[in-house]
Amino acid sequence: MNSVAHMHVTLALEADLGIDHWPGEEYTYSAHYHHNGWGDERTYAGEFTAPSRTLDYRIYLPRLMEDFTERGGVMEYRDLSAGEIHALTDVHDLVVVSTGKGEIGAMFPKRTDKSPYDRPQRKLAVGFWHGVARRDPNGVEISIIPGVGELLAIPMWSFSGPVMALLFESVPGGPQEVLTDQRFEDDPEAYRKLTLDVLGRYHPTVMERVDVDGFRIQGEQDILQGGVTPVLREDYVRLPNGKFLLALGDVHLTVDPVQAQGANAAAYSARVVGDAVLEDEVFDERFMKKVASRRAERIEAANDWINTMIHNPPMPQIPALLTAMVGNQALADEFTENFNYPIRQIDLLGSEARVDAAIERAAARTTVPAN
Ligand SMILES: Cc1cc2nc3c(=O)[nH]c(=O)nc-3n(C[C@H](O)[C@H](O)[C@H](O)COP(=O)(O)OP(=O)(O)OC[C@H]3O[C@@H](n4cnc5c(N)ncnc54)[C@H](O)[C@@H]3O)c2cc1C
Repeated sequence: MNSVAHMHVTLALEADLGIDHWPGEEYTYSAHYHHNGWGDERTYAGEFTAPSRTLDYRIYLPRLMEDFTERGGVMEYRDLSAGEIHALTDVHDLVVVSTGKGEIGAMFPKRTDKSPYDRPQRKLAVGFWHGVARRDPNGVEISIIPGVGELLAIPMWSFSGPVMALLFESVPGGPQEVLTDQRFEDDPEAYRKLTLDVLGRYHPTVMERVDVDGFRIQGEQDILQGGVTPVLREDYVRLPNGKFLLALGDVHLTVDPVQAQGANAAAYSARVVGDAVLEDEVFDERFMKKVASRRAERIEAANDWINTMIHNPPMPQIPALLTAMVGNQALADEFTENFNYPIRQIDLLGSEARVDAAIERAAARTTVPAN
């Protein structure tokens, strides 16, 4: 359950593996449309150099699982305890763990130097809705209101075709959190009206594309309410039998979904592991360290970038950056394209000095020199 965008760097990984099954434009978007809740000029857009894809994971992942089995992989469906996962190391050369919840997540110690929060910084509510028109060119709307939170309107392709994922990222204690606290299943019609009310109050650039009469959820399985506690865990653990478990995906890095990075980071990480497997035969601590060091810079950059974006109250450089992008197309495009490149993004926005430098650099690129 999510509303995942795969950035073009991830699509390139899929093409390289021969698992890029959805070339159609109906599954992609190419821009971010911004609306800031402060300043006189509030809207602007940034463009990607290549499209991202937003296809419902309940369609996407089963197809990738077929690819896996067609190439000789074996799928088994069962619930594993931590003890059963330990036992797998007796029969497999390498055990990679990819689920981040409960006792399994707890097997990998939290990295306190990189995990600043002990609770969610946003309350989440995401639904797949009919009745919200797409932009032309197709894009994700990012509406940010101080003290309220974010709304990401993400054009998805799902079981009924085009839908709009409305991902409300609400500041705890703020006026939008009701969309997480009021349970959809208690009264779907009241929830629909509440969503329209929040859109009308805080997110005008999305509301103007809503057809109120046609506004309805795709189905009862198409809404998710909750929150994510961001965490970066150790890359691997050594077991009493001398074998290792390697962490990959959310069990390694869990980030808030506000900048669309969790699955993209997991895909990058999987490729690092795959390449390391191809060049090695021994899955000892040397192997684990090799994987850890190769993926560290990108994974830590994604972690630091998202944790900067969701800080309460906002870090001072973030409103400065978002406001500067209004009149600076090069900067807006750079911020947008950097959704593919977390290292560049944290270089851009990691501090006030970095944002100042990025604003100047981009202004120089867009300013025509006087004669
Ligand atoms: C609302 C939302 C929007 C998002 N948007 C984006 C986005 O735009 N871009 C992006 O890159 N990422 C996004 N993400 C993050 C993305 O969904 C995750 O990072 C990604 O799905 C993690 O994949 P994973 O395989 O590590 O874990 P999961 O997808 O959580 O898979 C874990 C699997 O393990 C199984 N499992 C759990 N416990 C056990 C057990 N005990 N035994 C056996 N199996 C078990 C589960 O059933 C599941 O199949 C979003 C997340 C949310 C919630």
